[in-house]
Amino acid sequence: MNLEFSPEEIAFRDEVRTFIEENYPDHMRPKPGQGDLTREQYLAWHKVLGEKGWSTPAWPVEYGGTGWTSTQRYIWSEENARVDAIPPLPFGVAMVAPVIYTFGSQEQKDRYLPKIRSGEEWWCQGYSEPGAGSDLASLKTTAVRDGDHYILNGQKTWTTLAQHADWGFFLCRTDPDAKKPQEGISFILVDMTTPGIEVRPIITIDGGHEVNEVWLTDVRVPVENRVGEENMGWTYAKFLLAHERSGIAGVARSKRGIEKLRAIASTEIIDGEPLLEDRSFASKVSQLEIDLSALEFTELRTLAGEAQGKGPGPESSILKVKGTEIQQRLTELTLEAVGHYSHPYFRGFPEDGANEFGIGPEYSFGAAPSYFNMRKTSIYGGSNEIQRNIITKMILGL
Ligand SMILES: Cc1cc2nc3c(=O)[nH]c(=O)nc-3n(C[C@H](O)[C@H](O)[C@H](O)COP(=O)(O)OP(=O)(O)OC[C@H]3O[C@@H](n4cnc5c(N)ncnc54)[C@H](O)[C@@H]3O)c2cc1C
Repeated sequence: MNLEFSPEEIAFRDEVRTFIEENYPDHMRPKPGQGDLTREQYLAWHKVLGEKGWSTPAWPVEYGGTGWTSTQRYIWSEENARVDAIPPLPFGVAMVAPVIYTFGSQEQKDRYLPKIRSGEEWWCQGYSEPGAGSDLASLKTTAVRDGDHYILNGQKTWTTLAQHADWGFFLCRTDPDAKKPQEGISFILVDMTTPGIEVRPIITIDGGHEVNEVWLTDVRVPVENRVGEENMGWTYAKFLLAHERSGIAGVARSKRGIEKLRAIASTEIIDGEPLLEDRSFASKVSQLEIDLSALEFTELRTLAGEAQGKGPGPESSILKVKGTEIQQRLTELTLEAVGHYSHPYFRGFPEDGANEFGIGPEYSFGAAPSYFNMRKTSIYGGSNEIQRNIITKMILGL
């Protein structure tokens, strides 16, 4: 694999870098330690990219993709991570859209894809239920046919950012008598303003409002909102999960995270020396860099495969496991580096010289909340234990 950029690729990188420098909406950047982002902050960059035609690089060109090579997409994510840009959320762009353009009707493609591209409509994912996470096929939310509508009843949980969502894609049981539970499920698009939908917040240990319960009581949804065939939803759901997992690796962002960690550890002084000079700490950072470099090559191989028309397959499970382990390790080492400054809830008193967000240097704000928050990564998108089961079966053939 040749990792030298060609002159054309360098020109592309410069074009991207200049565009980001000139167009990234600076006023929308979160303040250090801000906590939850606003809907506007999440969408600001997405909307700029939508206008430029760069919000959905991975889509087929006929639906608004950029047609970039795998190397260009790699450069794109590196350049965005370099400035900590808030990327378009995955639920529309990377999850439901591939299902719609692969299995949806022409009407569905025309109705939904343009507004996902522009950032006009926000999507949430209604898969998990209190009794159906890893064992997703045991889901109980029902969609019962009533003329040209389905009537939905049930409860979804852990629904990320549903409080902002305009639309949700829901897995619902349409045939309770199917021989196998996987055979009786349909994939249904739901307008989140429909009467009977209630979004209840779940506040996480870092104090954030990121996840929700979504309760559905007699929610009437037109049958035309079902994607693909009735009772075939499991096929589309699995297709979507493979897309979700490969996006979770977050290599470019972890590289940026290591740069920040190195900067912190060069500033923090322990026993008269910068922390980064401490052999034990330096060796932990180096090990993380080695692991990240191995993951980067694996991701590049997957991207190269995708460029040759191979969709993300079971190897996306490897990217998910290693990518999330690295993200968690990064927050652990950051927490170790900022030590006593990182207490999550004590924000400090102004009369003691503390600023609005915390005590200590700015880089310590948010270190503990982020450490707690990142525990989620080995659970969502299919837990890492489940990914190991997939690797064992589908890749190792055991
Ligand atoms: C922050 C966050 C955001 C999320 N966002 C969404 C969202 O937007 N939409 C959505 O639909 N869902 C979402 N989820 C839900 C997520 O997909 C589930 O939490 C996940 O699939 C695990 O399911 P569970 O929580 O029910 O745990 P369980 O399935 O009950 O698992 C509990 C433990 O048992 C282990 N385990 C279970 N089965 C096996 C097995 N066969 N072999 C080995 N170990 C096993 C698991 O690894 C886990 O450690 C989110 C979760 C989190 C934490």
